Amino acid sequence: MPSPTTTSYRGRFAPSPTGELHFGSLLAAFGSWLLARHAGGAWLVRVEDLDPPREVAGASERQLATLAAFGLHSDEPVVRQSDRGALYQVAIDRLLAAGLAFECHCSRTVLAASGGIHRACVRTKRADPAIRLRVPDGTVVTFEDAVHGMQSQDVAGEVGDFVLRRADGYWAYQLAVVVDDAAQGITDVVRGADLLDSTARQILLQRALGLPMPRYAHLPLVLGQDGRKLSKSDAAMPVDADDPLPALREAWRWLGQAPEALTSAQDLPTLLALARAAFDPSVIPARGGRTPEAAPSNVTFAS
Ligand SMILES: [Zn+2]
Repeated sequence: MPSPTTTSYRGRFAPSPTGELHFGSLLAAFGSWLLARHAGGAWLVRVEDLDPPREVAGASERQLATLAAFGLHSDEPVVRQSDRGALYQVAIDRLLAAGLAFECHCSRTVLAASGGIHRACVRTKRADPAIRLRVPDGTVVTFEDAVHGMQSQDVAGEVGDFVLRRADGYWAYQLAVVVDDAAQGITDVVRGADLLDSTARQILLQRALGLPMPRYAHLPLVLGQDGRKLSKSDAAMPVDADDPLPALREAWRWLGQAPEALTSAQDLPTLLALARAAFDPSVIPARGGRTPEAAPSNVTFAS
């Protein structure tokens, strides 16, 4: 029986259904799955479908089918953020009642003068207010990332008061992800490094809501030879669910792992078993894309 102070590892992969599963997402899925399995923990899938205008019909089902084709199955029923508005509202109500969040009528246009950073309301009248978290002057968040080391962000200066619910009624990603990670008992957030600069905001929200802070590991981004991030909308990026082994071998290399560990695998179960046995979290690089031969073969790089 585990002691009350021991929390067993619970990781997750949380794709947005804005298109097909691309190589960068596969890297995050495979990396988070390997870390969860390495720790003997659970791996959950959560669909982050909070932004209907950006979503593609059927994309969520196709992404889940692609994950299944890669042998990556959620250990618990898949959760969808579009079903969880009541949880987000409870969190907002608590923050408003505590004076930690406020209604804001400022439009993007009026905030342009301050570079989009909200420090104080400059407009008072609008039908539907946004809700923002109050970020007092001097709010600096420091945390350790397992891959990138110590991180520090001056949230007040760089981000300002940030949106929890948009004026159009949609929940902000920052709020939903914090509420869901806590509700699902996530102990380890493993995701792409494009979300590294969201982490300080999420930690502030965890503190405001009295929620536990998970550990963080941000995996390397898939970069082109010019060092720029490949766009999610890059048509060349979807992975081939009919032929999972090459993409998994490439993802393995982008995770800094020794390619020869998987050489003998001829089928998916063998490859995943070899990967679990050989996986070494300590060699995951902070930056990817420096070795062109490790790039997925179906990607055409911009020059
Ligand atoms: Zn405002």
